[in-house]
Amino acid sequence: MPAIGVLALQGDVREHLHALEDVGAIAKPVRRLAEIEAVDGLVIPGGESTTLWRLAAAFELLDPVAKLIADGLPVFGSCAGLIMLADRLEDGVEGQRTFGGIDMTARRNAFGRQADSFERDVTLQLSDEADGEPFHAVFIRAPWVERAGGEVSVLGVDNGRIIAVRTGVLLATALHPELTQDLRIQSRVFRFNGEGDVMSGHSKWATTKHKKAVVDAKRGKLFAKLVKNVEVAARTGGADPAGNPTLFDAIQKAKKSSVPNDNIDRAVRRGSGKEAGGAQYENITYEGYGPGGVAVLVECLTDNRNRAASDVRVAFTRNGGSMADPGSVSYLFNRKGLVIVNKTKELTEDDVLMAVLDAGAEEVNDLGDTFEVISEPTDMVAVRTALQEAGIDYESADPVFLPSMEIDLDEDQARKVFKLIDALEDSDDVQDVYANYNVSDEIMEKLG
Ligand code: GLN
Repeated sequence: MPAIGVLALQGDVREHLHALEDVGAIAKPVRRLAEIEAVDGLVIPGGESTTLWRLAAAFELLDPVAKLIADGLPVFGSCAGLIMLADRLEDGVEGQRTFGGIDMTARRNAFGRQADSFERDVTLQLSDEADGEPFHAVFIRAPWVERAGGEVSVLGVDNGRIIAVRTGVLLATALHPELTQDLRIQSRVFRFNGEGDVMSGHSKWATTKHKKAVVDAKRGKLFAKLVKNVEVAARTGGADPAGNPTLFDAIQKAKKSSVPNDNIDRAVRRGSGKEAGGAQYENITYEGYGPGGVAVLVECLTDNRNRAASDVRVAFTRNGGSMADPGSVSYLFNRKGLVIVNKTKELTEDDVLMAVLDAGAEEVNDLGDTFEVISEPTDMVAVRTALQEAGIDYESADPVFLPSMEIDLDEDQARKVFKLIDALEDSDDVQDVYANYNVSDEIMEKLG
């Protein structure tokens, strides 16, 4: 059963929830972005579009929901909901904004003021079949569609005025179907011909939503790893980043990845014992082989040795790899300090080189969007300090393992190696994975 959210800022929320339940959907009120991202389709109820706009702005929903709509979120908007789906508005109040999504101009209060609210029968073309009986339609200070773009299908006209439109998976009506016993709109609304059936979970949005969830989950894991680094650095070298360069770099890296400051502060406090909940993490490095004979080093930071070992072993064996004895592949890598600098228009490779040369940098490489500066791990802090002193903003500074020799992979091997790395990184105990492969730009492009 599909989950349909009813935007619960203001308006006929309860009536829509009941009507959706009556046609077999799981209906829930939604008002936070995360709630809206999780549903299969959204209803924007009638109410007062000026209030919907103000509340949507206050909840910081305007742009994000517009983006979800552009990404394929199916939406049914009724009355004020029609207004919220219009790209352009007439007779709005000063500054009034909408989510947009349908190439049309809606005229607010077109059918008159409260006193002029009325009911009458209209004919709507909701699907390709004839819709038979007319709809008994309730209009309450209803808008009409003044102008609709070429891609917009007009589904209903009343006295020469457009009162129902559809474009892709967006449907808007000037009338209020939730206020009558006629459930034809609710039962059809999220079954869009040819555009995917939201009711059975086969819409384009279902795919987008799934991808978003995967990205969010990955982001969550990355945050947890970055925060763990901060905690460990604070435990080892104290809570003051000025006297603890490792902590400084761990914080910098977390911030650059948009980890909230609060999470970072708490990790520092846990690490330095000022707040409970800190764990005794130990560093363990596992070695193994991946598909195509690629050498793999897996750095773990764990408070549970057995779990880490088993996670790593399972990831290797399920993905065409195997674990190897300590020392059997680690000699193929060198421990180095790696500082990444984002490119800007003004910044040249020479600028970077000049800044870091005297600080012990061994190599500066142009990686396309970034420069990398490689040094001995012991010189890394000096390198990034030199960059700071030269006024060059750096992205990250990390001790890493760099392979001394790389193995070229074909497309099939590359896909398998990336799957293995993904599976390893999926473990909460794994901090970093290094592998000595080389994949051509061409293949990278293919793999997306
Ligand atoms: N006129 C109202 C508005 O501007 C809409 C009325 C309704 O949704 N019933 O939002």
